[in-house]
Amino acid sequence: MNAITVNNVTKTFRDGTTALSDVSFTVNPGEGVILLGHNGSGKSTLFKCISGFEKPTSGEILYGDKDITRLSKRKFRPIRKKLGMVFQNFHLIYNLSVFQNVLFGAMGNSKTFLHTLSFCASDELRMKAMECLDRVGLAHLAGRRADQLSGGQQQRVAIARMLMQDPEVVLADEPIASLDPRAGREVMELLWEIVRERHLTVVCILHQTEVALEYGERFIGLHSGKLVMDQVQGQVSKEELSTLYNKESSFES
Ligand code: ADP
Ligand code: MG
Repeated sequence: MNAITVNNVTKTFRDGTTALSDVSFTVNPGEGVILLGHNGSGKSTLFKCISGFEKPTSGEILYGDKDITRLSKRKFRPIRKKLGMVFQNFHLIYNLSVFQNVLFGAMGNSKTFLHTLSFCASDELRMKAMECLDRVGLAHLAGRRADQLSGGQQQRVAIARMLMQDPEVVLADEPIASLDPRAGREVMELLWEIVRERHLTVVCILHQTEVALEYGERFIGLHSGKLVMDQVQGQVSKEELSTLYNKESSFES
């Protein structure tokens, strides 16, 4: 069974923009896929369709063998729990502590929002949050306000928060785009280590072709909403990946 199946997905927004045009590919369980393409090529829209924040205009998306294309918000909830998201801009709550941010990751697994507030959370949840923070090497900063951390540390907190939900699949949307090269490398290394040790499936959007080649087992390329590359490691060179960025772009954003 595939982890994720995308079948002939087209997404046209209300304003008439077609962000995805008849895109099809599959991701195998445990696979490390890098998604590439110039700005505006539809990468984030694809993630939004997979994670249920946008509905495709046509086509279907399967999680395992379950068709999740048009599930209601309520029915999507257990699926979303299994999808760990990492974003370019971390999406932390900056006036709260690192620990509190990590606890919030359990939101999908807890009975209520209240159960994820540090003064209400169970000992079990609090311990798990510390374990997740420890895994990303930041247990010593648990009490710090999130806005006092460096970018690399903030992305590590976001990864720890994601681990709280026990994801099966990780969707990382340009996780190192706002980091300097060194911090970016460290975050990639950590993310991939965690993905491997937990046997997770990962789809990661990257712009750095060198980093992509180093980590990817498979490379999917989008250009102006169309799938233009689907190659496994060893079949593709840095030059080929770079062509995805050199092509004339029909969108600029
Ligand atoms: P990428 O992540 O590859 O940079 P996006 O998926 O964000 O690309 O965007 C693909 C195209 O869809 C762009 O032209 C963008 O402007 C457009 N787009 C994205 N979201 C919306 C929206 N909510 N409404 C209209 N157009 C959108
Ligand atoms: Mg994007």
